[in-house]
Amino acid sequence: MTKLVVLTEGQYSVDQSKKFIPFDPAFHDPKDRPASIFVHVQPFLLQTEQDLILFDTGLGYHNEQGELVIHKAIQNAGFDPNEVTKVLMSHLHFDHAGGMVYEKDGSMQLSFPNAYYYIQKEELNFALTHATQSYRLAPLEYLRRSDALVLLDGAGSIDGYIDYEITGGHCPFHQVFKLHTSDGIYFYGGDVLPEAMQVIRRFIAKYDFDGRKCMELRNQFAAQAVVENWKCLMYHDQKNAITSFEIIEDAISIKKPF
Ligand SMILES: [Zn+2]
Repeated sequence: MTKLVVLTEGQYSVDQSKKFIPFDPAFHDPKDRPASIFVHVQPFLLQTEQDLILFDTGLGYHNEQGELVIHKAIQNAGFDPNEVTKVLMSHLHFDHAGGMVYEKDGSMQLSFPNAYYYIQKEELNFALTHATQSYRLAPLEYLRRSDALVLLDGAGSIDGYIDYEITGGHCPFHQVFKLHTSDGIYFYGGDVLPEAMQVIRRFIAKYDFDGRKCMELRNQFAAQAVVENWKCLMYHDQKNAITSFEIIEDAISIKKPF
């Protein structure tokens, strides 16, 4: 049996500065955040027979007690961050990679000290050589020198049950993961498949490196999801965190309830 936990880190508004500013609809008015998009952030934790797997690591924000929000969320689900065995990184934009490492007593350390971190080699190279608002260098430099880092090259398989492949689209070396488990297939599409409704509403997003390719990939993956009955993990989707798809009247639809 597998167990899946959604590790909600919260909702944020993001404007051109690409800063993620906490946004709680109960307290904040969207009108006070002009030219912003509103983004939900949620890594996932999956317990399989072999592993405790984390899919991306969130922003790395701390709560008022000074604890990492993602550590607390893992503990609230009955697990310990030290039990995580694999961290699967779709890409290294800081809303996905911010929680990989953290600072404690003035020095940096791995947030998941007993895990291997699986990162595409070219994504790490790209991030380290394209210091923009989307990438934070210090954590990446730290991880680059760590024994925990496992660099993936293109497409392949980890431990015989985790398939990975480069998709590009959202960023040049973005990757996705497909896990074959006793409970069927889990698919983590990162920011190529971040929200279920994006499959239904076909559109080209400005924030993607290659928006047209992303749109095409979303539809390809959703079509495969129907055939193989995938459980898709949606990193930025508050309402449909775990989504399956079906065909209704010749069109791909969100299958409910999961
Ligand atoms: Zn993202």
